[in-house]
Amino acid sequence: MTTAASPARRRISILGSTGSIGRNTLDVMSHLGGREAFEVPAITGMGNIDLLVRQARQTGAGFAVTADPDRYAELKSALAGSGIEAGAGPSALIEAGHRDTDLLLAGIVGIAGLAPTLAAIAGGADIALANKECLVSAGDLFTAAIARGGGRLLPVDSEHSAIFQVLEENQRHAVERIILTASGGPFRDHTREQMASMTADVAAAHPNWSMGIKISIDSASMFNKALEMIEARHLFGLRPDQIEVIVHPQSIIHSMVGYSDGSVLAQLGAPDMRHAIGYAISHPRRANLPVERLDFARLARLDFSAPDEIRFPALALARTAMQRGGLQGAILNGAKEAALEAFIAGRIGFLEMADIVAATMDRLDDGRQATGIDDVYAADREARAVAISIIADCGVRQTS
Ligand code: NDP
Ligand code: MG
Repeated sequence: MTTAASPARRRISILGSTGSIGRNTLDVMSHLGGREAFEVPAITGMGNIDLLVRQARQTGAGFAVTADPDRYAELKSALAGSGIEAGAGPSALIEAGHRDTDLLLAGIVGIAGLAPTLAAIAGGADIALANKECLVSAGDLFTAAIARGGGRLLPVDSEHSAIFQVLEENQRHAVERIILTASGGPFRDHTREQMASMTADVAAAHPNWSMGIKISIDSASMFNKALEMIEARHLFGLRPDQIEVIVHPQSIIHSMVGYSDGSVLAQLGAPDMRHAIGYAISHPRRANLPVERLDFARLARLDFSAPDEIRFPALALARTAMQRGGLQGAILNGAKEAALEAFIAGRIGFLEMADIVAATMDRLDDGRQATGIDDVYAADREARAVAISIIADCGVRQTS
């Protein structure tokens, strides 16, 4: 509501505000005017209650939610006297998505973000989407919900933001291909033998981007790029054969679109998620963002090479999932999550993650389709269970 005295503030809710994307979003919002410019109907986190409380107080959020129901009392007492409502657990997350907002930043990691994001979509909010697992696991349902809800879907993943920025809306018929760039991660030049013995700590140390632990390890295995291929297919309505991946170690070109006249348009920038976040929340305007400006003389060169699909089998698995369609995206993601957790716990080796995902996808390749969100959650649970049983069959590795 606008009053004569106070111009309307833009309403932005943030799912996953305590994570890497969430913190960067709040940083961008504070650069773009903070509480003067933005109202925050809802924010959510999970384990980091101290930060959630600080963020809620700083932004004057209407509703602060932890996904962990056991932390409700702690959150509520920390917010006592602030006038900020507290909530906990899956239903409170969905309630956060339902709170009236102009834009919802979907920054939860994993499929837990699907239901609250769909709640905001149903309310007609624009969605700034970082939570790629929503599109990977439930792409058709998700894009249909956006069409019904009437809000815009604004990509935050840097590659998809790049494509969105150079995709000429009235020339979509002339798009031949998109080219997703990949840094290649910390193991870009490692042999398979070296990769086999890598630990989670080493895999999580990304050379260019500072991100959450899961996405950092997914970058090392290129499962992140695999998810991004499926994400791009749904975001831009492409065929699997139109989606290419190129290794570009400097992460300066964030992705490209190739047109039928042979032109390739690219978006370039410093590897800083605040650009893609700022672009999404300011769209269609370009705001003044606190990101480093490129100095081409200092950069001097940009390198490219084809990805090695023997060392990085995740890319072929994404193609298989896209070709099979149905719930294979949800199955790939669920199996990958279980394998990733087993790798972080030291129970399996780095290279075994892809073997487990491939075996799970094959075992659950029965052409099933999603008729609703429950089918997606069921496929996710089943994929995790199958992957865990495969891991158990392989035997438990000794942790050092
Ligand atoms: P983080 O792990 O840093 O943050 C995840 C957020 O989700 C935190 O707020 C966390 O709460 C919360 N959370 C974790 N588990 C659950 C759960 N089960 N239910 C509800 N909330 C939960 O992740 P990132 O910020 O790195 O990534 C978020 C999403 O954005 C992912 O889908 C990722 O792939 C995508 N993305 C991230 C990029 C990046 O630069 N980080 C780049 C492009 C895409 P808490 O911390 O309080 O426990
Ligand atoms: Mg990305």
